[in-house]
Amino acid sequence: MRAAAALAAPPAMSGLVAVEEARRFVLSACRTLPAAQVPLFDALGLVAAQPIFSSEAVPPFANSSMDGYALRARDVAAVPAKLRVVGVLMAGDDPGALVIGAGEAVRIMTGAALPVGADAVCMVEHTRQQDGWVVIEEAVGPGTNVRHPGEDIAAGDEVFARGESLGPAHIGVLASLGVSQVPVFPRPRVGVVSTGDELVAGPGPLAPGKIRDSNRPALLARLRADGFVAIDLGRAGDEPGVLAQALVQAAGDCDAVLTSGGVSVGDRDIVKIVLEELGGQQARWFQVAVRPGKPFAFSTVPPRSTPVFGLPGNPVSALVSYELFARPALRLMAGHQNLERPRLIAVAALDMRRHPDGKMHLVRVTVKAGPDGLEARPSGEQGSHQMRSLAAGNALALLPDGVGVAAGERVEVWVLDLDRLSV
Ligand code: AMP
Ligand code: MG
Repeated sequence: MRAAAALAAPPAMSGLVAVEEARRFVLSACRTLPAAQVPLFDALGLVAAQPIFSSEAVPPFANSSMDGYALRARDVAAVPAKLRVVGVLMAGDDPGALVIGAGEAVRIMTGAALPVGADAVCMVEHTRQQDGWVVIEEAVGPGTNVRHPGEDIAAGDEVFARGESLGPAHIGVLASLGVSQVPVFPRPRVGVVSTGDELVAGPGPLAPGKIRDSNRPALLARLRADGFVAIDLGRAGDEPGVLAQALVQAAGDCDAVLTSGGVSVGDRDIVKIVLEELGGQQARWFQVAVRPGKPFAFSTVPPRSTPVFGLPGNPVSALVSYELFARPALRLMAGHQNLERPRLIAVAALDMRRHPDGKMHLVRVTVKAGPDGLEARPSGEQGSHQMRSLAAGNALALLPDGVGVAAGERVEVWVLDLDRLSV
């Protein structure tokens, strides 16, 4: 196999394939993972696999939304009104047999259950205390400052639909209902293996001709940042047999696998050959009409049809290709309905010129929110080996085939890091 792979000519150039077409192929080969129950806190960032119904009301009982006095609204229609204080209720107290009659009030704290007979709360700021009595200085209508049972969620409500992505507030809602196990689509477990005999991991001096493996750490970090389980599968060098073995093993252990390098048209570009061997008819090698990120290989691998993404070796290309193909597919596997990062319109702060070449160009940019909307400017050098500008920027500007845009023109941007939009 080694000789065959080393000598094999690359598959015939089939011309450029549009990003959308390659993505369609990839997405059609991926499936949402089987649902599972996970503990509440582990559900953060995952997608509900079933509609979730409440078994109880939130709030569970009528309670005060203010520190003040629980009373009968009709007793304070004319103010000032002097009421006799017949008790105190703290949050958590059982109001028990405490009943408010005509001309009476109960000192009450926020969250405490309303005593029987009370239908409103006057906030403490509008009262004056007089030993054993309280003077109410502002009339309150029935229901004022009262939180009614079920006014957030009624028992039996569908609180979340299947497909809802669960954020911190969702975790809070589920906790308020006493839910401890949540039916979700699990986090895809994604293995990362790098190819290339030139690669060295870790510190220490570099031998001549060697470089450090940066794609594997970057892809592992990217996966983790995107909410997937990142599994480091190490380096496979450029030996097809070793790579094939690593992929077979990974296909059993992982829900998906990313490789980097070895998908171009060099003599050592073994990934596409190994994928063809493992995936047969399912394997594809694309020359995508995009820059960076042109070469890309993909296959599902038996026995579980595990998707394997053959990302390019150039560091920026690897991450861009991940964005174009792997991330949407992994989100599909995780049950997300929205597979895309946000695409927004910005104004180019500088010229972004290019030449027609049949490809979409993705320019690393910094997008900033200014007084007149979003502004995009290139974040540095744009070679596919120059990672610094990807780290410095927060978005990719989309320049369709053509001559690019001039300063002041509108440009579509694909925001990779929303948190850095306002820096
Ligand atoms: P390839 O497609 O394997 O020919 O790789 C293209 C370029 O990316 C070459 O310059 C490689 O040395 C470089 N490269 C490949 N894999 C990595 C990696 N894991 N980390 C950094 N650079 C890489
Ligand atoms: Mg290589």
